[in-house]
Amino acid sequence: MQVASKTSQDWIEGFLFVGNHLALDFLNTRPALAEGPQELLPDVDALVRWLVASDLLTKQQGKALAGKWDCTRQAAVFLRRLLRFRERLRAAVVRQEACLPVSSGFISELNSLLKQHPSVVALQRKGKKLDLGAALTPKKPNDVWAPIAIAVAELLSDASPGRLRKCEACVVHFLDTSKKGSRRWCSMNICGNKIKVAAYQQRKRAARTKRR
Ligand SMILES: [Zn+2]
Repeated sequence: MQVASKTSQDWIEGFLFVGNHLALDFLNTRPALAEGPQELLPDVDALVRWLVASDLLTKQQGKALAGKWDCTRQAAVFLRRLLRFRERLRAAVVRQEACLPVSSGFISELNSLLKQHPSVVALQRKGKKLDLGAALTPKKPNDVWAPIAIAVAELLSDASPGRLRKCEACVVHFLDTSKKGSRRWCSMNICGNKIKVAAYQQRKRAARTKRR
């Protein structure tokens, strides 16, 4: 298995954003790097940085929360639950990618999260366009469930399973939004170039063997 390199521009503040969907970018917070699978959300501080990098929080909100939540038991318990949920999401996405139905247990868990943590949305300016997105003003760590739960529910209900894919060369998942639907890797910078170079070298080797 090839691994993602951490040198590409697809990384923002140390997090990977190649999923084309918030739920998948959340899933990809545990990629396999050269040194093995890496937990990019090891503590509450990292979670707050990810929320800022994902545009769910402003830098000022992140700064205020990091100081407030860091080292609190409530935030640590929330993070543990969130990471366990992320691994169950991984199983659900892998099933969708294989065109298998998502388990009833996961659907029930998600429905209960959606009920307990209803989402608030708001219009925001993004350049010249208006964007409808989650308006997160978290008062307690559990409030972060709202944007995560709605993103996961949207992914599982809206994304065509045929467009949900794992990179051919690493463990990163993405939603293929390309016109042709032929995206094969997480990113050209991370795995695409490696695959192309490997294919070129293989073609060269095959041509040399033929000439002999
Ligand atoms: Zn990849």
